Amino acid sequence: MTSATDSSETKRILTGDRPTGRLHLGHWVGSLQNRVRLQDEYETILIIADLHMLTTKQTKADIEAVADNARGMVLDYLAVGIDPEKTTIYLQSAVPEIYELNTLLCNMVTVNRLARLPSLKEMAKNAQIDEESMPFGLLGYPVLQAADILLPRAHLVPVGRDNLAHVEITREIARRFNRLYGEVFPEPEPLLGEVPALMGTDGQGKMSKSANNAIMLCDDQATVAKKIKRAYTDPNRVSADVPGNVENNPVFQYHDAFNSDRDAVAELKERYRQGRVGDVEVKQLLIDALELLMAPMRQRMSEYAADKGLVDEIIWNGTERVRQLARETMREVRSAMGINRAATRLRRTVEKRQKKKSS
Ligand code: ATP
Ligand code: MG
Repeated sequence: MTSATDSSETKRILTGDRPTGRLHLGHWVGSLQNRVRLQDEYETILIIADLHMLTTKQTKADIEAVADNARGMVLDYLAVGIDPEKTTIYLQSAVPEIYELNTLLCNMVTVNRLARLPSLKEMAKNAQIDEESMPFGLLGYPVLQAADILLPRAHLVPVGRDNLAHVEITREIARRFNRLYGEVFPEPEPLLGEVPALMGTDGQGKMSKSANNAIMLCDDQATVAKKIKRAYTDPNRVSADVPGNVENNPVFQYHDAFNSDRDAVAELKERYRQGRVGDVEVKQLLIDALELLMAPMRQRMSEYAADKGLVDEIIWNGTERVRQLARETMREVRSAMGINRAATRLRRTVEKRQKKKSS
């Protein structure tokens, strides 16, 4: 039997996304890049977190959209280089053990600790939920996330900055559980991406599916160009000869993140600061750099999409794999807590009585 302290155990990654739409460049620099880089070294598991979606979107229409959104998301994974031979991808709601572990972990953290989290307030705000209408489930978002991470007993969690505090809660929950019931869970480490929070094209906040400020991995070249041409830059620069600000300027944050010609970027920043380059040129160079990055992604995406049913098969097989891991973990969790003992006693008594009656 494997245990949390067994050093021969393969190290695991657990991370993923809510199936609320296609993925964007923020996901790429925040988390996807690390997943691709580490899939040889770790057993990588990606969760399609549809139960997490329910915390802010619960209509029948939202739920009906999950299947298509999941397919799109997995195509995005494959497009950036996630290899389905190495990485397991699964659907959260299809693993019953997650509901069970979530219930048990709910008592390992205080309401106060959760209610203070800025990330939950931010999520509520984005979903136009005020304090009065905060669902219990949204407050419990980090607990469900802890259940996701602890169920396959993951060691590493690649996330963007908005999710860092949730991994910290997972660590606290794991520690409390282990202290009360014995060592069952490893304490997972978070891993921040190269750019922990990529700004949106509106320059207002982080790039986000739900904020209409994202460059999607599946956008074609013309759409990318259009979005960059409309993107926010230094608003004080009414003409090309006005010295500009490269800080808090999404166009330059994108150059830093996606333009591999470092010298050209440094020179461009210098000219921008001195008022010696127009926005049109800065943006065109960015469009070219993005095309270099995104053209191979688009190519891979269309190849995978042409193989009908492949994506469904990947998700289905991944879900079976995680169910197996989940069953193993839950056996250990129940036995460590002794939570199954009362039921076992009842069953034994009934079995004995039945035997007596029939003999
Ligand atoms: P939603 O608007 O539905 O919340 P989202 O775009 O914020 O969608 P999530 O599914 O919440 O995306 O996030 C998935 C993962 O990607 C998380 O680890 C998150 O931290 C990371 N991430 C999301 N947006 C960014 C960003 N702009 N920069 C860096 N990382 C990001
Ligand atoms: Mg989000």
